[in-house]
Amino acid sequence: MRKMKILVAEDDATSLFMLQSLLMKWGYDVIAASDGNEALSILQGDDPPLLAILDWMLPGESGPEICRRLASRARLQEGSGGGDEMGKPYQYIIILTVKGEKENVVAGLKAGADDYITKPFDAHELQMRVMVGKRILDLQEQLRNAALYDALTGLLNRRAVIERLEEEFHRTSRSGKPLNVALLDIDHFKNINDTYGHASGDAVLVECARRIKESVRPYDVTGRYGGEEFLLIFSDLEECRADDVCERVRNAFQSAPFFPAEHDGERAEIEITVSIGICEYSEGVENVDALLAGADKALYRAKEKGRNRVSR
Ligand code: GH3
Ligand code: MG
Ligand code: MG
Ligand code: MG
Repeated sequence: MRKMKILVAEDDATSLFMLQSLLMKWGYDVIAASDGNEALSILQGDDPPLLAILDWMLPGESGPEICRRLASRARLQEGSGGGDEMGKPYQYIIILTVKGEKENVVAGLKAGADDYITKPFDAHELQMRVMVGKRILDLQEQLRNAALYDALTGLLNRRAVIERLEEEFHRTSRSGKPLNVALLDIDHFKNINDTYGHASGDAVLVECARRIKESVRPYDVTGRYGGEEFLLIFSDLEECRADDVCERVRNAFQSAPFFPAEHDGERAEIEITVSIGICEYSEGVENVDALLAGADKALYRAKEKGRNRVSR
C-alpha cells in the first residue's frame, strides 16, 4: 500500500525537523515546506497531500489563511456545478499553535482547520491526532466511492458515468475531437433471472462488467447505466475504431460461456450475448440527453435486427 502523504509547513527548522522525523518514523511520507505560499501551492497542486500540518505563523500565507483559501476553493467547485463528491477529495488540516493562545485556536478552527496542536507538542498526542485525521479521510474516501461506484459491479454508477459524459461532451464541443458513446444491453437477461435465480443474475452482471472492462482501453469510461445496461464512453476515438472496440466487447461475451451457479445439481453453462448501440457526437447533437437518445435508438435497431450485434 502507498504511504500516506503529509505536508508539514513550519518555518522553524528545529520544529520542522522534529515533526518530519516523527512522521516518517510512523510510516508517513512527508513533504516539507518552510513558507506558506509554497505550502498552498503544494496543497492546490496535482495529487496533493490530503493531510497537512500547518504552522500558524509562516512567511507568506499563514496557516489559517491557507485554510481559508482551500475552503473557498471547495465552495467554488460546488458553485461550478461539479458537485462535491465528484470534485477534489477533502483535505484535512491540522494547525500548529503556541500553547495558551486560545483565540488562535478558535480563529484557526473558524478559518476551516479541522484540528490543532499546541507547541511544544507532545509526540504521542500528535500521533493520535494524525490518526484521527487519517480515520476521517478514510471515511471520506468510502463516502466518495459509495457515491461514485456501483456496489455490485464496481463500475461507475449511473449518475457518475453521466457526469463523466457531460465532461467529455463539453470537451468535445470545444476541441472538435471525436466522441462516441455506446449503450450495451444484455440480451434476454430476464430469462437468466427466471431460470437460474436473481443471485445468478447478479453474478452474471459482475462477470459482464469484468469482460467489458477487459475489452476496452484503460482510459475508456465504463459505467452501469441501469439494471443490465452499461454505458461506454470513447473519447478521441474515430467512429470506425469505436465500432471495433464494441465488436471486441461483443465477442468477449460470445467467445466463452458464463458459469453463474449450480442448476439442477449441475454446473450451469450459460451463453450470453449483448446488443450495443453507438452514437457519435456531431454538430447537431445539442446535449448529452440527445447523445444518449441516439445511442438508445441505435440499441433498439440492434435488438430489432436480431440482437447479438453492434449498431449505429
Ligand atoms: P432484451 O433482449 O430485449 O434486452 O431482453 P431482456 O430480458 O434483457 O430485457 P428486459 O428489460 O425485459 O429485462 C431486464 C431484466 O434485468 C429485468 C430485471 O429483472 C433484470 N435486472 C435488472 N437489474 C438487475 C439486477 O441488479 N440483478 C439481477 N439479477 N437482475 C436485474
Ligand atoms: Mg512559524
Ligand atoms: Mg434493458
Ligand atoms: Mg436486456
